[in-house]
Amino acid sequence: KRIALLFIDIDNCKAINDTFGRGIGDKLLIEAAKRMRSHIRKIDTVARLGGNEFVIIMGGLESPYQSDQVASKLLKKMAEPFDLGYDVAFISASIGITIYPHDASNSIGILKNGDRARYAAKRHGGNNFQYFTPIMQQCALSRLSLINDLRSALPKRQFRLHYQPIVNLMSGDIYKAEALIRWQHPTKGLISPIEFISIAEESGLIVDIGDWVFREASRQSARWRAGIHPHLQISINTSPLQYKSEAPSAKAWLEYLQTLNIPGEAIAVEITERTLMESGTTIDETLLAFRDANIQVSLDDFGTGHSSLSTLKNLDIDYLKIDQLLVGKLAINSDDLALCEAIIVMAHKLGLKVIAEGVETEQQRELLLAAGCDYGQGYLFAKPLTAIVFEALLTSPYAYP
Ligand code: C2E
Ligand code: MG
Ligand code: MG
Repeated sequence: KRIALLFIDIDNCKAINDTFGRGIGDKLLIEAAKRMRSHIRKIDTVARLGGNEFVIIMGGLESPYQSDQVASKLLKKMAEPFDLGYDVAFISASIGITIYPHDASNSIGILKNGDRARYAAKRHGGNNFQYFTPIMQQCALSRLSLINDLRSALPKRQFRLHYQPIVNLMSGDIYKAEALIRWQHPTKGLISPIEFISIAEESGLIVDIGDWVFREASRQSARWRAGIHPHLQISINTSPLQYKSEAPSAKAWLEYLQTLNIPGEAIAVEITERTLMESGTTIDETLLAFRDANIQVSLDDFGTGHSSLSTLKNLDIDYLKIDQLLVGKLAINSDDLALCEAIIVMAHKLGLKVIAEGVETEQQRELLLAAGCDYGQGYLFAKPLTAIVFEALLTSPYAYP
């Protein structure tokens, strides 16, 4: 896994020593170290190299950009006044970030890079962080500005849901639809969830966004069920973070469905293997609550991750969605086809229905149908559509040719 090294320099230590004396300077360093320690994870390490230089080592990073969130938090914390008894001091920090193994492969190289990146931060006037690699610096800055914009996206009503039909493979009828979020950014245009869901997860914003998705999809489902398609079910995606204990409970969602006067069947919830692995015990309770309310549950992106079908039999899951990576590789007599067939047979034995994702060709549809797959979703049938276009599709006598 990746390791980030943050090389930190307290910017105006010398001035503080000169003004207040070394005793106060030492006190300040101790306070600064405490602030650093309280803003890292338990598994990370803070060390003082000497003088006004500190190093933070962050291990096991999923994304190299996890470290810039820490760096910007640290910069903010360091800029807050230090109360040193008789005096109040103001400092700032310069932070250099380097990533192992991306930037260097040994500790000497890593320290050297970190020092150079820190020097670049100093040259930029202090109170900022710089990545060792310029490209990473650019990415980090655009991510930070995206996080800022993301914070106001919900109050500014910039999210949209698109709907992609899930069809009965045999008849081509629309069986249900998956709601897929889009972000209508004021200057960058329509942004795909691939670009912002992970940022929303890292910043914790996903809980509120997920709540909005649920409510918007439910409202839409209620409208369409009342007017056009009485049995339509909208499937929503959820993130593991929505099942942590602090997240709003399933109870609020169920109450919302009641105020709309629609049954639980109007909504299905998609979870991923990550949810099953990361959410701990609350996921079981939430799944039970969903079952009691007749909200169905799909396991998304199945077939490329780690979970086996045996882990599924203890859970209340209604649908298995075969990942589009697997569907994309289907060919006559291929191993991937054999794998798909086995998944379908086992899922059926466990009482689950199977949805194939990313169906793009007629041949894939035929192979899946022959393998006994129940439903399909993909560009072959329709792309994700705006609510208006999806509604037009629902009202037209839709049949797959
Ligand atoms: P997903 O849930 O697996 O959704 C299917 C993705 O495959 C969608 O991408 C869809 O547009 C795309 N797709 C559908 N048919 C085809 C096809 O035939 N070929 C190809 N190549 N792609 C196809 P999209 O809309 O960009 O969403 C990407 C991912 O973002 C979703 O994957 C889901 O994990 C996540 N996501 C989307 N909306 C939400 C949301 O409201 N909340 C959360 N937490 N995640 C969301
Ligand atoms: Mg999905
Ligand atoms: Mg999927």
